Amino acid sequence: MPVSTPGFSPAPVPAPDGVTQEDWESFAWQMQNRVRNLEDLERWIEPSPEEAQAVGDLARRFRFVITPYYASLMDPKDPACPIRRQVVPSPQEAEDSAGLADPLDELLHSPVKNVIRVYPDRIAFCVNNECALYCRFCLRKRMVGEEGWSMQKRELELALDWIAETPEIRDVLLTGGDPLVFSDSRLDWLLTRLREIPHVELIRLGTRLPVTLPYRVTEELCRMLERHHPIWVNTHFNHPAEITAPAVEACRRLAQAGIPLGNQSVLMRGINDDVEIMKSLCEQLVRIRVRPYYCYQAQLLEGTGHFRVPIERGLEIFSAMRGRTSGFAIPRYVLDTPHGKVPLERSSLQGRDGEDVLVEAWNGETWREPNPPD
Ligand code: SF4
Repeated sequence: MPVSTPGFSPAPVPAPDGVTQEDWESFAWQMQNRVRNLEDLERWIEPSPEEAQAVGDLARRFRFVITPYYASLMDPKDPACPIRRQVVPSPQEAEDSAGLADPLDELLHSPVKNVIRVYPDRIAFCVNNECALYCRFCLRKRMVGEEGWSMQKRELELALDWIAETPEIRDVLLTGGDPLVFSDSRLDWLLTRLREIPHVELIRLGTRLPVTLPYRVTEELCRMLERHHPIWVNTHFNHPAEITAPAVEACRRLAQAGIPLGNQSVLMRGINDDVEIMKSLCEQLVRIRVRPYYCYQAQLLEGTGHFRVPIERGLEIFSAMRGRTSGFAIPRYVLDTPHGKVPLERSSLQGRDGEDVLVEAWNGETWREPNPPD
């Protein structure tokens, strides 16, 4: 079955020597054989002395885990590789001490453990604290991979009870961590419980597994998800090199199950802060039926300052794409704030005050965003 237009040949990702194709394409094998330390990493790349030092120093602060699939996409010789920079600690991560653990005040917006309510009718429900791998720029560094944020079944029940008792909630985003780290049966149970709540109209899944471990998206998973429609999925590709043949197949399966697919990327220095790279990413996403939805301004978070790009640069990139590609291939450039998302466009930008950019949120509040230097 064709997955996209002729002439588009996403890279195959063959099993490495010594691993059967069956194992390589198995979710369980990938999870069990994840890169967790320097020795494992050296099987895939030649870490620079700085990276080797950073792995030792930083893995304790924020978990260091990479799936073999994603590790195989890294350039073994180039520390500037855009795949490698997303998951291998760098010395800059230790130097970036500015920033908050919880810049969006999610804890303040949490009526019950791991439920975040910023808007009246929507919640983000962090159903677990686990991901297939851990991205060095993660907004939820404070919780992903941390034991205290895991959700026992009893805690999931408490959150479901709160949703059932809150009739304004019509839209539930399952996030984490990553909800697709759950087994099919656990996810099926959770979706069934949510579907029993009459006021929950829409269920969205925020997952990076189509990018970081696409073999998780099996036909069985898609048949299960289909039973709970309307289900929407937002995934998270940041660079065209992530659009491989297995990732395309994962997106095809989800689309064939009638699931609308969107992409939420993060604008990051040296990874995708370039018009041609961003345009290529978005155009390839459209080819595989994934709509570029949001591109986030990276948050000021401890250990992530080196990824941040000035807002002016982001505005230039998205305005340069206008008129040069299909309108629906251009994501909305947004800033997440404790008042919700603010589109970074003329109507919400109020101006500057020193180094800060002032923006107006949906509720009329002004938010002051520290802007990184160029
Ligand atoms: S997959 Fe998402 S939640 Fe998990 S570490 Fe990466 S950015 Fe954070």
